[in-house]
Amino acid sequence: MSLSSELQLRIAALQRALEPMDYACSGSLFTRTRLCGKSNCHCATDPDARHGPYFTWAHRDRDRIVHHILTREQAQVVRRAILHQRTLRKLLAQWDRESTVAILAMRESNS
Ligand SMILES: [Zn+2]
Repeated sequence: MSLSSELQLRIAALQRALEPMDYACSGSLFTRTRLCGKSNCHCATDPDARHGPYFTWAHRDRDRIVHHILTREQAQVVRRAILHQRTLRKLLAQWDRESTVAILAMRESNS
């Protein structure tokens, strides 16, 4: 198998890896429980009876950090989207390297 067809296969594999990703987000997801402050509430004495969990998503919007309160369902989507974003960064770096080699190989094969 030639270098260029090997590269084409690797690039095609990268493209397939991108396909199943629906959302891709930056940021961090936090899960918290809290005390309501009422002395007669179970949460005042029992750590397992704290209210929540509450889901907060912190991400950078231009030059500031924005916090969003999410539902449990949204938190699941964001958790997956953050993993997708990390995978995308790795795939893009790999795609960059493979593309560079493929493009430079084009000139060598034509000369
Ligand atoms: Zn409480």
